[in-house]
Amino acid sequence: MSILRSLKTSFSKAAWVAYNTYRKGLRYGQELAATEARLSGSRDVITQFQWERLSRLLKHAYQTTVYYRELLHSADIKLTDMQCPFDFSYVPALEKSMIRERSADLLSQVYPKRRLMKNATGGSSGTPLVFYQDRAYWNQRNLSSYYFDRWAGWDFGGRQLIVWGALVDVDRAMPWKQQLNSFWRNHRWLNGFNLTEDLMIRAFKEMQRWRPQTILAYPSSLYLFAKCLEDNRLTPNWELNGIISSAEMLHPHYREVAERVFKAKIRNRYGGREAGIIAMECKAGRMHINCHDLHVEIDSHDPYSQPGEILITQLNNYAMPLIRYRIGDIGSLSDEVCPCGNQLPILGNLLGRTTATFRTRSGELIHGGYFTRQFYGIDTVRQFQLIQDSYDVCRLKLVVNDEFRQDTLEGIIQKIQARLGENTDVRVEFLHEIPRPKSGKIAFTISNVGNENNPPHSVTVLASNN
Ligand SMILES: [Zn+2]
Repeated sequence: MSILRSLKTSFSKAAWVAYNTYRKGLRYGQELAATEARLSGSRDVITQFQWERLSRLLKHAYQTTVYYRELLHSADIKLTDMQCPFDFSYVPALEKSMIRERSADLLSQVYPKRRLMKNATGGSSGTPLVFYQDRAYWNQRNLSSYYFDRWAGWDFGGRQLIVWGALVDVDRAMPWKQQLNSFWRNHRWLNGFNLTEDLMIRAFKEMQRWRPQTILAYPSSLYLFAKCLEDNRLTPNWELNGIISSAEMLHPHYREVAERVFKAKIRNRYGGREAGIIAMECKAGRMHINCHDLHVEIDSHDPYSQPGEILITQLNNYAMPLIRYRIGDIGSLSDEVCPCGNQLPILGNLLGRTTATFRTRSGELIHGGYFTRQFYGIDTVRQFQLIQDSYDVCRLKLVVNDEFRQDTLEGIIQKIQARLGENTDVRVEFLHEIPRPKSGKIAFTISNVGNENNPPHSVTVLASNN
């Protein structure tokens, strides 16, 4: 069995070389080495590289897109004014609404339509957002993801279990094509959309034989999987190199359970479909920014102490430049020198989606993290979601086990009311599972109050036993 496994790994490694050569040409090996050198280089190397790329991109955007030409003219900015990254911060930010309204004007006029590759965010709470990229963008994006995934113990040809469930991803490939891809890449899948206990146990038994080296997962699905194994007293008989958690906020409680059950460290990966990997957690637990693909800014008067909205500039998307794009997350920067030795800048405090910020009638803003914290350590709750529908009404969706107690529920409601007002009506819905939105990402907290990106929608009545 182990001989077959290593033969398969060697085959997959060779297939990766063939794939990369086909996609990126014979020079891909050199390009990969250059990317790695850059991402593990000194701060000076990184800063200089970023400034070079930023200047080139802005010039390209100004010269070949209607949108940026108009924008720079109306903001009275000349390309010659751009002398350093500080000057760059005068370029007005790009809002999601602009991508919706002026998609055609954002496309570079020198790109033939046939070279454009359509991509979209699922929009966990709003409407999907469509944007375009090209192959060169994807090639660059893959290079940095190879680099960062290695931090979690991944390597070309290594066996990887993927616990995922984005319909957007699954829909795109034909099933046979996806199967073929998984075969040569050495991936196996556990569908995060359909995690019944039966399926998880079956997948686990398969893993005991197949012995994946890494797991790539949605944290919420990973947690369900780990919890199911723990409840059924199933222990992995193989050793994982590491786990990559991606696409949703990694709840500390999820991390704790998954690391305990799988006896491996989780590396949190923060990214977006618009941008690729934005930051990746290192062995010292810091989130390093992917400076190969992105320039990251914080919209705040002091990005090091005051969290603000994250603005990203995609350095390699020349087909549809996204410059100072407000991605919809809140975070800050850290000026700490990381003990891991890597000199990429650090994202200090990633607070998550702006749509998760609750508002009270008196105008107070409460970050969704306050509510998720109330669930830490409550083992009887499998999943939860808190939705603020109006100033006075919240829905709390819960998936619990048989040992869940009434006083636990009362404690949680009290904590919610402590911040939103003691008269807030918290409507509890007990469910078998929290339905995944089309994007596949389950948000722990959603506010439909006063959020421009997330207009109020009607309240759906769901089965409840309370
Ligand atoms: Zn580090």
